[in-house]
Formats: sequence, structure tokens, C-alpha cells
Amino acid sequence: MRQPLVMGNWKLNGTKASVEALVKALIEPAAKAEGVEVAVCPPVIFLGLVEKLAEGSRIQYGAQNADVHTSGAFTGENSPVMLKEFGCKYALVGHSERRTLHAETDAVVAAKYEAIQAADLVPVLCIGETLAQFEAGTTNQVVEEQLKAVIDRCGIASFAKAVVAYEPVWAIGTGKTATPEIAQAVHAHIRGYLAGFDADVAAKVQILYGGSVTGASAANLFGQPDIDGGLVGGASLKPDDFAQIIAGAK
Ligand code: 13P
Repeated sequence: MRQPLVMGNWKLNGTKASVEALVKALIEPAAKAEGVEVAVCPPVIFLGLVEKLAEGSRIQYGAQNADVHTSGAFTGENSPVMLKEFGCKYALVGHSERRTLHAETDAVVAAKYEAIQAADLVPVLCIGETLAQFEAGTTNQVVEEQLKAVIDRCGIASFAKAVVAYEPVWAIGTGKTATPEIAQAVHAHIRGYLAGFDADVAAKVQILYGGSVTGASAANLFGQPDIDGGLVGGASLKPDDFAQIIAGAK
């Protein structure tokens, strides 16, 4: 009953030419992947271009970040309202690179999640533990705390219009994909934790896996009962790999 979703996070990559080539190359794989939602998150400067290129296709798109403010004296920021105007469906929030490199705390992440929903965008709430936390066996507590900050601020009902992405930090950009068993166990824990607040919301929310997903690893990961697709970094920049990942979600 949950529709699979495969989302590419292009991070800080691309040129006008490469963005055009990539979106054009994805139109057909997205068209063929009936029943699978396909989305890309380009750097915001390319959103207008992606909007034009993706028009009439099954490719949806989103931003990698959004500010909490809708407008005003906030130099360098992008408003969720502006992202909506450019046709975004999604905005990532709480990606580990933002948490680490931009010192985004759980409180900041919750405020941004709220602002994203207020602009009628779907927040993709990224959570996950560091290597040290994984090795200390505290993964479940870490993801619970990250979820709790958002539940406290926005309520469990807000997850009816959100996506969760579990991205173990040790798997991001490292080539070390979590095994399907490890990922499934954490996904099941996340869903179980949410179910403690609202079983119906928990049963319906899409929970994506992210961290070194490749064309070769995708189908086994997505075949797990609580893994509803992926948030893909490096491999989403390679059309053939990303097409294979999309096919793996069918
Ligand atoms: P990689 O797929 O490059 O490991 O990146 C994952 C990620 O951070 C997606 O948001």
C-alpha cells in the first residue's frame, strides 16, 4: 500500500549541460517505472531549468534544503514558498551534511520541517547515526531522538505528509552500504517507534534508505518489508545506475 519512491540527491554537483543531459536521460526510465515515484533534488540554482525539462514527465523534484523564513532579510537563503513556486514537491531536511557542516540541530531541523510543510511541500526528514554511534550500539536511540524533536514540534499527524529517510552517516559516500538486514532492522524500529504515537500514520509513511545505494544493491534493499525506496547520492548522477535503481524499486 506504500508507493515506492526513488529520489536522487545531486548535492553540490552539475552544470547547465549536465543537468539537461541527466533529466533528459531520466524521462524514459521514469515513464517505465509505473507505480514508482521518481524525484531529483538538484542544487536550487538549477530548479528553473529542471522545472522546464521535467514538464510533462513523471519526474518530480525537490530542494536539498530550505530556510525557515518565507521572505525577508536573510541573505543567501531560499524560502520554501519560492521552492513551491518553482514546482518542487519535496524538500530534504536534516541531511547529515547539513547537520554536520552547517550545525543544524534537531531543533533547527524541526523548525525547517514545519516551514516546509507550511509551504505545502513534503519534507523528507533525514535521520541516521554516525559510525561511533553505530559501533556503540545506539542507533535506535539516535533515530528516536531525531524523530522525537519533530514529533514534539509538529505532531505525529504531520508524518502523514512527510517522508522519512534513514541514512546511516557511515554509509554516505563511503561505498559501505548497510546490508539489507541492518537497514531493515532500523527501518522496522523507526516504523515501530512512530506506531507508538499513531499506528495508522506509521503504517503509511514512506521510509527511504540512503547511503551508497547502487544499481547492484538497490533491489535487495528495496525488497525489504519496511524499505520503501531510496535517497541516492553519487549513483543518482549516473543515468544508467539511477535507472537501474529505479527499476529495482518496482
Ligand atoms: P551516497 O549515495 O553518495 O552515499 O549519498 C547518500 C546521500 O547522502 C543521499 O542523500
